[in-house]
Amino acid sequence: MEKQAVQRAREAFLAGRPRPLEFRVQQLKSLQRMITDRQGEIATALKQDINRSQYDTPLFELIGLENEISLAVSKLAQWAAPRPVERNLLTISDQAYIQPEPLGVVLIIGAWNYPWALTLQPLVGAIAAGTPQRPPSLFLLSCELYPVVCGGVSETQELLRQRFDHVFYTGNSTVGKLVMEAAARHLTPVTLELGGKSPCYIDKDVDLRVACRRITWGKFVNCGQTCIAPDYILCEPSIQNRVVEGIRQTLLEFYGPDPKSSPDYSRIINQRHFNRLMTLLEGYTATVGGQSDSSQRYIAPTVVKDVPPQARLMQEEIFGPLLPIVTVSDIDDAIHFINEREKPLALYVFSSNKKVIRRMLAETTSGGVTVNDVIMHYTLNSLPFGGVGQSGTGRYHGKHTFDQFSHHRACLVKSLGMEDVNMVRYPPQNRQKARR
Ligand code: NAD
Repeated sequence: MEKQAVQRAREAFLAGRPRPLEFRVQQLKSLQRMITDRQGEIATALKQDINRSQYDTPLFELIGLENEISLAVSKLAQWAAPRPVERNLLTISDQAYIQPEPLGVVLIIGAWNYPWALTLQPLVGAIAAGTPQRPPSLFLLSCELYPVVCGGVSETQELLRQRFDHVFYTGNSTVGKLVMEAAARHLTPVTLELGGKSPCYIDKDVDLRVACRRITWGKFVNCGQTCIAPDYILCEPSIQNRVVEGIRQTLLEFYGPDPKSSPDYSRIINQRHFNRLMTLLEGYTATVGGQSDSSQRYIAPTVVKDVPPQARLMQEEIFGPLLPIVTVSDIDDAIHFINEREKPLALYVFSSNKKVIRRMLAETTSGGVTVNDVIMHYTLNSLPFGGVGQSGTGRYHGKHTFDQFSHHRACLVKSLGMEDVNMVRYPPQNRQKARR
């Protein structure tokens, strides 16, 4: 079934169906309509799945998606236009330009934690670029060009055996390696949007009330199941207790004394992840939270302080509502700590000290970075979003998504005239001499 759908998409691509700009715009507008018409249903579905606040689904998924579509619709003609480039003496009277062209049939594999944004945001750029593809969940678009497979591991494995012109995967690094391996068999390029442990450094020179409020928001929204949530905090021992108190106060402000009964606090996606998180917590005393209820897959917003760097909590991405604090002696120690580990997807630094900020930016690396806030770099579609090293390869959002699904073809169009100028490059080498 998968094979036939890919074949049909390829035939449609070869027939040029997704290519006209008007068609792309019309498909993007259909997508926009679907989201607008169904936003209530979408938010309700996520409320049922993981008790996500009805307010968070528009905020974290749908508004950004609509912005991406509006941007693509308004800029498509500009993005898809040939871009003239500089010429040299030999090509001075020719046309030299870069022509973005659709790559072909692409596969988009989304993740469950923000299913709409993570599936449809790549799709927006893929439609804009003129490629047909297979996103996992969609209804209103052309079924032939944009077929959908709902399924899990076996369906994904079956799809990965097919040949695509690009594979765009969002999920964990273990599966990322399998995706890259499968794509390598066909020499298919990949975008891998992966995860990892995103550090959050809090300098002692900072307004802790503001820092803790922003960190608490980004860490515990969606119950910590956000790829760019701050994974752990690094700070000096002298401010650790104040950080804990700041987070405790903010949690009270956000979710009240019992987060379990708050309509704004989500649940863990499934029992496997619930068990994994509870195992990570074993052997620690939570400084804040720590309560759980397996029957509801509820884990309270939890902070653990004085976590040793070699602890299990510090070995793998947490992807849940557990926030370890590791103390460091100073900024040098913090930078060293970050650089000793895999390159993170996101890095956060909170400080009022320009020198501290400058050093953190200059002496570390990460897919993206936000200073004095968390997550917000994701919301700016002029910034490329993606990882580096183990946190991913490739980038998207806004025009970056369009570029990811386009081939940037080098075009040189010459005339048949001026052949005399060209004689210098033709053999025999002694032609010039012979002429003289
Ligand atoms: P997951 O287990 O749902 O896997 C994601 C996709 O991979 C699904 O479509 C699934 O069917 C498929 N898959 C799983 N196992 C497979 C296998 N053996 N072979 C082929 N396909 C397989 O997702 P997850 O790993 O629980 O998602 C969480 C991870 O994703 C975290 O590491 C998080 O940081 C990362 N993430 C990254 C981003 C980003 O934009 N960079 C966004 C969200 C999540």
